[in-house]
Amino acid sequence: MNNTNTYINKSILGIFAHPDDETSGAGCTFTKFARMGANVTVITATRGELGTLGTGDLSVSREQLPGVRENELRQVLALFGANPPILLGYKDQEVQHEETEVIAGTLLNYMKRIEPDVVITFGPQGISKHSDHIAIHNASLSAFNFYKLDIAKKVNLLYIAIPESVAKEFDLDIDGPEIKPNVYVPARDDINVKIKALRTYKSQEDAQEFAEWLKNSMDYYESFRLVGVDGDEPVAFEDLLAD
Ligand SMILES: [Zn+2]
Repeated sequence: MNNTNTYINKSILGIFAHPDDETSGAGCTFTKFARMGANVTVITATRGELGTLGTGDLSVSREQLPGVRENELRQVLALFGANPPILLGYKDQEVQHEETEVIAGTLLNYMKRIEPDVVITFGPQGISKHSDHIAIHNASLSAFNFYKLDIAKKVNLLYIAIPESVAKEFDLDIDGPEIKPNVYVPARDDINVKIKALRTYKSQEDAQEFAEWLKNSMDYYESFRLVGVDGDEPVAFEDLLAD
Protein backbone atom coordinates (compact mmCIF):
# COMPACT_ATOMS: atom_id res chain seq x y z
CA MET A 1 0.00 0.00 0.00
CA ASN A 2 1.55 3.30 -1.08
CA ASN A 3 1.82 6.12 1.39
CA THR A 4 0.37 9.43 0.28
CA ASN A 5 0.28 12.95 1.61
CA THR A 6 -3.44 13.44 0.93
CA TYR A 7 -4.19 14.32 4.57
CA ILE A 8 -0.82 15.76 5.57
CA ASN A 9 -2.44 18.77 7.27
CA LYS A 10 -5.16 16.72 8.97
CA SER A 11 -5.27 15.36 12.45
CA ILE A 12 -7.26 12.58 14.12
CA LEU A 13 -7.45 12.14 17.89
CA GLY A 14 -8.71 8.97 19.58
CA ILE A 15 -9.65 9.07 23.26
CA PHE A 16 -10.07 5.73 25.03
CA ALA A 17 -9.97 4.10 28.46
CA HIS A 18 -7.70 1.06 28.10
CA PRO A 19 -4.87 -0.13 25.87
CA ASP A 20 -6.61 -2.14 23.08
CA ASP A 21 -9.84 -0.06 22.98
CA GLU A 22 -8.31 1.97 20.14
CA THR A 23 -7.55 -1.16 18.12
CA SER A 24 -10.93 -2.83 18.61
CA GLY A 25 -12.79 0.35 17.71
CA ALA A 26 -10.70 2.09 15.10
CA GLY A 27 -7.44 0.27 14.32
CA CYS A 28 -8.05 0.07 10.57
CA THR A 29 -9.22 3.68 10.44
CA PHE A 30 -6.14 4.99 12.24
CA THR A 31 -3.90 2.91 9.97
CA LYS A 32 -5.61 4.00 6.76
CA PHE A 33 -5.51 7.71 7.45
CA ALA A 34 -2.01 7.69 8.99
CA ARG A 35 -0.85 6.00 5.77
CA MET A 36 -2.41 8.88 3.83
CA GLY A 37 -0.51 11.45 5.84
CA ALA A 38 -2.86 12.31 8.73
CA ASN A 39 -1.37 12.95 12.15
CA VAL A 40 -2.93 10.28 14.40
CA THR A 41 -2.80 10.56 18.19
CA VAL A 42 -4.35 8.33 20.86
CA ILE A 43 -5.02 9.33 24.45
CA THR A 44 -5.46 6.38 26.83
CA ALA A 45 -6.79 6.94 30.35
CA THR A 46 -5.41 3.84 32.14
CA ARG A 47 -2.83 1.10 31.67
CA GLY A 48 -5.54 -1.55 32.00
CA GLU A 49 -4.31 -2.76 35.40
CA LEU A 50 -7.25 -5.15 35.88
CA GLY A 51 -6.95 -6.99 32.57
CA THR A 52 -6.12 -10.64 32.03
CA LEU A 53 -2.59 -11.83 32.87
CA GLY A 54 -1.47 -13.32 29.58
CA THR A 55 -2.51 -15.72 26.82
CA GLY A 56 -0.70 -18.60 25.13
CA ASP A 57 2.81 -18.91 26.54
CA LEU A 58 2.73 -15.42 28.06
CA SER A 59 2.10 -15.15 31.80
CA VAL A 60 2.59 -11.85 33.62
CA SER A 61 2.07 -10.81 37.23
CA ARG A 62 -0.52 -8.24 38.27
CA GLU A 63 2.42 -5.95 39.11
CA GLN A 64 3.96 -6.31 35.67
CA LEU A 65 0.69 -5.94 33.76
CA PRO A 66 0.54 -2.11 33.49
CA GLY A 67 4.05 -2.00 32.02
CA VAL A 68 3.31 -4.90 29.67
CA ARG A 69 0.09 -3.29 28.44
CA GLU A 70 1.72 0.10 27.96
CA ASN A 71 4.42 -1.58 25.90
CA GLU A 72 1.79 -3.41 23.83
CA LEU A 73 0.01 -0.08 23.21
CA ARG A 74 3.26 1.58 22.11
CA GLN A 75 4.01 -1.23 19.65
CA VAL A 76 0.49 -1.13 18.26
CA LEU A 77 0.44 2.63 17.69
CA ALA A 78 3.79 2.36 15.91
CA LEU A 79 2.24 -0.37 13.75
CA PHE A 80 -0.63 2.00 12.85
CA GLY A 81 1.81 4.82 11.99
CA ALA A 82 0.38 6.87 14.87
CA ASN A 83 2.22 8.98 17.45
CA PRO A 84 3.31 7.43 20.76
CA PRO A 85 0.38 7.31 23.23
CA ILE A 86 -0.60 10.03 25.65
CA LEU A 87 -1.32 8.26 28.95
CA LEU A 88 -3.51 10.03 31.50
CA GLY A 89 -2.35 7.78 34.35
CA TYR A 90 -5.72 6.79 35.82
CA LYS A 91 -6.24 3.31 37.27
CA ASP A 92 -8.50 0.70 35.67
CA GLN A 93 -12.12 1.02 36.90
CA GLU A 94 -11.31 4.25 38.74
CA VAL A 95 -11.86 6.79 35.96
CA GLN A 96 -15.47 7.26 37.13
CA HIS A 97 -14.20 8.51 40.51
CA GLU A 98 -12.52 11.54 38.92
CA GLU A 99 -14.61 14.68 38.35
CA THR A 100 -15.71 14.82 34.69
CA GLU A 101 -14.61 18.48 34.50
CA VAL A 102 -11.09 17.59 35.61
CA ILE A 103 -10.65 14.96 32.89
CA ALA A 104 -12.38 17.24 30.37
CA GLY A 105 -9.97 20.07 31.24
CA THR A 106 -6.99 17.83 30.54
CA LEU A 107 -8.54 16.59 27.27
CA LEU A 108 -9.37 20.15 26.17
CA ASN A 109 -5.73 21.17 26.63
CA TYR A 110 -4.63 18.29 24.41
CA MET A 111 -7.31 19.15 21.82
CA LYS A 112 -6.11 22.76 21.67
CA ARG A 113 -2.53 21.58 21.20
CA ILE A 114 -3.27 18.81 18.66
CA GLU A 115 -6.12 20.62 16.84
CA PRO A 116 -7.83 17.42 15.61
CA ASP A 117 -10.23 17.58 12.66
CA VAL A 118 -11.84 14.38 13.92
CA VAL A 119 -12.15 13.15 17.50
CA ILE A 120 -13.08 9.46 17.98
CA THR A 121 -14.26 8.24 21.36
CA PHE A 122 -16.91 6.13 23.09
CA GLY A 123 -20.63 6.91 22.94
CA PRO A 124 -22.87 7.22 26.02
CA GLN A 125 -22.91 3.48 26.74
CA GLY A 126 -19.24 2.88 25.99
CA ILE A 127 -20.13 -0.14 23.79
CA SER A 128 -19.68 -2.51 26.76
CA LYS A 129 -21.13 -0.25 29.49
CA HIS A 130 -17.73 -0.36 31.24
CA SER A 131 -17.64 2.49 33.79
CA ASP A 132 -14.27 3.73 32.46
CA HIS A 133 -15.63 3.87 28.90
CA ILE A 134 -18.66 5.86 30.04
CA ALA A 135 -16.50 8.25 32.09
CA ILE A 136 -14.29 8.81 29.03
CA HIS A 137 -17.37 9.49 26.90
CA ASN A 138 -18.64 12.13 29.33
CA ALA A 139 -15.28 13.88 29.60
CA SER A 140 -14.54 13.73 25.86
CA LEU A 141 -17.97 15.14 24.94
CA SER A 142 -17.58 17.98 27.42
CA ALA A 143 -14.07 18.80 26.19
CA PHE A 144 -15.15 18.61 22.53
CA ASN A 145 -18.04 21.03 23.09
CA PHE A 146 -15.60 23.66 24.41
CA TYR A 147 -13.00 22.86 21.74
CA LYS A 148 -15.39 23.35 18.81
CA LEU A 149 -16.40 26.79 20.10
CA ASP A 150 -12.78 27.87 20.15
CA ILE A 151 -11.44 26.64 16.84
CA ALA A 152 -11.85 28.28 13.44
CA LYS A 153 -12.37 25.12 11.42
CA LYS A 154 -15.02 22.43 11.10
CA VAL A 155 -14.38 19.69 13.63
CA ASN A 156 -16.17 16.37 14.00
CA LEU A 157 -16.95 14.07 16.89
CA LEU A 158 -17.40 10.36 16.20
CA TYR A 159 -18.59 7.65 18.56
CA ILE A 160 -17.54 4.05 18.12
CA ALA A 161 -20.75 2.45 16.77
CA ILE A 162 -21.56 -1.03 15.55
CA PRO A 163 -24.46 -2.48 13.57
CA GLU A 164 -27.18 -3.96 15.78
CA SER A 165 -26.50 -7.44 14.37
CA VAL A 166 -22.88 -7.27 15.56
CA ALA A 167 -23.95 -6.01 18.99
CA LYS A 168 -26.26 -9.04 19.25
CA GLU A 169 -23.50 -11.40 18.14
CA PHE A 170 -21.22 -10.09 20.91
CA ASP A 171 -24.07 -10.05 23.47
CA LEU A 172 -23.84 -6.29 23.88
CA ASP A 173 -27.04 -4.86 25.30
CA ILE A 174 -26.78 -1.33 23.88
CA ASP A 175 -29.05 1.09 22.08
CA GLY A 176 -29.01 4.69 20.84
CA PRO A 177 -26.27 6.18 18.64
CA GLU A 178 -23.87 3.29 19.26
CA ILE A 179 -26.01 0.91 17.20
CA LYS A 180 -26.79 3.55 14.56
CA PRO A 181 -23.53 3.97 12.66
CA ASN A 182 -23.51 6.49 9.80
CA VAL A 183 -19.77 6.50 8.98
CA TYR A 184 -18.25 3.29 7.61
CA VAL A 185 -14.57 2.63 6.90
CA PRO A 186 -13.99 -0.53 4.83
CA ALA A 187 -11.26 -2.54 6.50
CA ARG A 188 -10.10 -4.54 3.50
CA ASP A 189 -6.66 -2.90 3.09
CA ASP A 190 -5.90 -2.78 6.79
CA ILE A 191 -7.59 -5.78 8.37
CA ASN A 192 -4.28 -7.63 8.63
CA VAL A 193 -2.79 -4.71 10.55
CA LYS A 194 -5.75 -4.80 12.95
CA ILE A 195 -5.40 -8.55 13.46
CA LYS A 196 -1.65 -8.15 14.05
CA ALA A 197 -2.32 -5.33 16.53
CA LEU A 198 -4.86 -7.44 18.43
CA ARG A 199 -2.33 -10.28 18.57
CA THR A 200 0.26 -7.81 19.88
CA TYR A 201 -2.02 -7.44 22.92
CA LYS A 202 -0.86 -10.88 23.96
CA SER A 203 -1.67 -10.20 27.61
CA GLN A 204 -5.38 -9.84 26.76
CA GLU A 205 -7.80 -12.70 26.11
CA ASP A 206 -10.52 -10.51 24.57
CA ALA A 207 -8.05 -9.13 22.02
CA GLN A 208 -7.04 -12.66 20.98
CA GLU A 209 -10.70 -13.73 20.66
CA PHE A 210 -11.50 -10.67 18.55
CA ALA A 211 -8.49 -11.41 16.30
CA GLU A 212 -9.86 -14.95 15.70
CA TRP A 213 -13.33 -13.57 14.93
CA LEU A 214 -11.91 -11.02 12.47
CA LYS A 215 -9.98 -13.69 10.59
CA ASN A 216 -13.34 -15.18 9.60
CA SER A 217 -15.18 -11.91 8.93
CA MET A 218 -15.28 -11.04 5.28
CA ASP A 219 -16.29 -7.49 4.35
CA TYR A 220 -15.54 -6.12 7.78
CA TYR A 221 -16.13 -2.41 8.30
CA GLU A 222 -15.23 -0.16 11.19
CA SER A 223 -18.18 2.06 11.90
CA PHE A 224 -18.92 5.22 13.80
CA ARG A 225 -21.74 7.60 14.63
CA LEU A 226 -21.12 11.19 13.57
CA VAL A 227 -22.48 13.29 16.42
CA GLY A 228 -24.88 16.14 15.67
CA VAL A 229 -26.30 14.67 12.47
CA ASP A 230 -29.86 13.38 12.32
CA GLY A 231 -31.00 10.49 10.16
CA ASP A 232 -29.02 7.55 8.90
CA GLU A 233 -27.65 8.95 5.64
CA PRO A 234 -24.06 7.62 5.46
CA VAL A 235 -21.25 10.17 5.63
CA ALA A 236 -17.82 9.34 4.17
CA PHE A 237 -14.95 9.55 6.64
CA GLU A 238 -12.98 11.33 3.89
CA ASP A 239 -15.58 14.14 3.92
CA LEU A 240 -14.80 14.75 7.58
CA LEU A 241 -11.20 15.50 6.55
CA ALA A 242 -12.12 17.70 3.58
CA ASP A 243 -11.03 21.36 3.56
ZN1 LIG B 1 -11.78 -0.70 27.47
